[in-house]
Amino acid sequence: MKFDKLRLVGFKSFVEPTDFAIQPGLTGVVGPNGCGKSNLVEALRWVMGENAYKQMRASSMDDVIFSGSGARPARNHAEVMLVLDNSARTAPAAFNDCDVLEITRRIEREQGSTYKLNGREVRARDVQLLFADASSGARSPALVRQGQIGEIISAKPQARRRILEEAAGIGGLHSRRHEAELR
Ligand code: ATP
Ligand code: MG
Repeated sequence: MKFDKLRLVGFKSFVEPTDFAIQPGLTGVVGPNGCGKSNLVEALRWVMGENAYKQMRASSMDDVIFSGSGARPARNHAEVMLVLDNSARTAPAAFNDCDVLEITRRIEREQGSTYKLNGREVRARDVQLLFADASSGARSPALVRQGQIGEIISAKPQARRRILEEAAGIGGLHSRRHEAELR
């Protein structure tokens, strides 16, 4: 699976619909302080199912919705769409019947989030598992936050093991086992 396109609407500072085409090879995002570079990476993490607002530098999940500026009123919803190129058919089996996977997460103020996969409503868990199985989820080692390298070095063995398991793509098995044990 390859990231192909990212679209932000009303997400943090990206109030107007903003499309990013992610070309093959290395992509760099450059710009002055406060222009939205970190917001962009957070949008990626958010659409992949991040459900801890603290990971989004927010004090509630509604804080990801554009909160208004001098010239523009606040919005009541935010949406991030991620398009994955699955033409190599490398998505986890449950999702592997399409060349393109389009994942959308939308949040309405005070209503929480909804997710869609290729236009069909799905649970947050479905999206989280899709990425956990592909070892690229919101908490995976594929996204390295500022200060995270230091955290890994000083982590306790159990915590470090979890990071390695996520990298190996078996992180999703733990939550499935936990669910199975609850049944
Ligand atoms: P740096 O180079 O300092 O790391 P950056 O390019 O990573 O900067 P971000 O942290 O992505 O910048 O963006 C910060 C900007 O986003 C701030 O101006 C902040 O006010 C704005 N912002 C964050 N959340 C919202 C929101 N909900 N509504 C409107 N603007 C927001
Ligand atoms: Mg930043």
